[in-house]
Amino acid sequence: MRRCRGRIVLVAGGAGFLGSHLCDALLAEGARVICVDSFRTGRMQNLRHLEREPRFDLVEADIVEHLPPRLAGRPDMVFNLACAASPPHYQSDPEHTLLTCVIGTRNLLRLAEESGALFLQASTSEVYGDPEVHPQTESYWGNVNPTGPRACYDEGKRAAETLCFDYLRAGRVEARVARIFNTYGPRMRADDGRIVSNAITQALIGADITLHGDGSQTRSFCYVDDLIEGLLRLAVLDRRPPGAINLGNPAELTVLELVQRVVALTGSHSAIVRRPLPQDDPRRRRPDISRAADLLGWSPRVPLEAGLRATIAWFAQETLRVVASIRLPASDDRVPAAVQMMHPPEKLPARGGSG
Ligand code: NAD
Repeated sequence: MRRCRGRIVLVAGGAGFLGSHLCDALLAEGARVICVDSFRTGRMQNLRHLEREPRFDLVEADIVEHLPPRLAGRPDMVFNLACAASPPHYQSDPEHTLLTCVIGTRNLLRLAEESGALFLQASTSEVYGDPEVHPQTESYWGNVNPTGPRACYDEGKRAAETLCFDYLRAGRVEARVARIFNTYGPRMRADDGRIVSNAITQALIGADITLHGDGSQTRSFCYVDDLIEGLLRLAVLDRRPPGAINLGNPAELTVLELVQRVVALTGSHSAIVRRPLPQDDPRRRRPDISRAADLLGWSPRVPLEAGLRATIAWFAQETLRVVASIRLPASDDRVPAAVQMMHPPEKLPARGGSG
């Protein structure tokens, strides 16, 4: 399918984990892509393969500031994924996180209005806070602590949704809102403090795996390819959705079960160490995706084991790239056993190579 052929699509946050996959998918659909990113948490390496792509442009800008005037009137579609998503990152500058969600979203909505562009907001399951309703349906209004350390993100995303629906009601912008649940896959940052990237990195380097709380809290993990397909279907839907749409994988498991699967798949000998649960950490999380299934004909296809294998393979390559860049021989004892096992020495990239 070439659903976006010839369209000019602006992806704010396109250098990040999800945004860079979205840029790839849009280009594969035949779109021209303008990525706007401040590189606060995004990385150039996520976009390096697009350097010579004639249908791809990169604009370095912070969406909280005035957007470059050359963007005015250009896009047919605007996807707003710009916002740090992992708690350590968004909490490191909470004021900027809140402003990114509110002022940044308003700046992009105004750009969409001027350009007559469709607008898709990447919202989050965090708008449900620590939910009292399980699984979470879109009609649930949530249970968010408005003054806690997560509020800059949770309340910011709630306010961004409010702005989107105000612009929509006023007939100013065709705005759509996806509430994204935990998503994982290649290009996550090893240092982003989220459970999947933490557990995989720690397992691969043979470090203790950090488990917050007793591990009985639940999450539902969606593989990145499934999520991106859901976002695209929502963007090209020919009808106006009745409200926000949950996108996530309803297969729920405890965080301890996830860690155990990562340990088994990496063959790691890492120990699991417990740390206190962070404040306001949700106890349960599982999307009700009936609305996405009915409206978009969408449901996730990638089983957890397949998604984890692909993600682990990517992190193993990344670990090797770092090893290669510091010129350790691949068979060196300091190259973690789990990485050597997944990539036997004869298949390792040459030392000092780009890996
Ligand atoms: P990420 O941190 O990898 O990507 C965010 C991108 O936005 C980065 O490239 C960053 O540099 C950029 N950015 C941040 N603030 C900016 C600003 N003010 N101006 C311009 N660029 C800015 O995070 P991600 O996991 O890719 O998440 C992308 C979006 O999806 C976020 O809006 C997040 O809230 C949402 N989301 C993600 C998940 C998930 O599991 N990954 C879950 C729910 C919602």
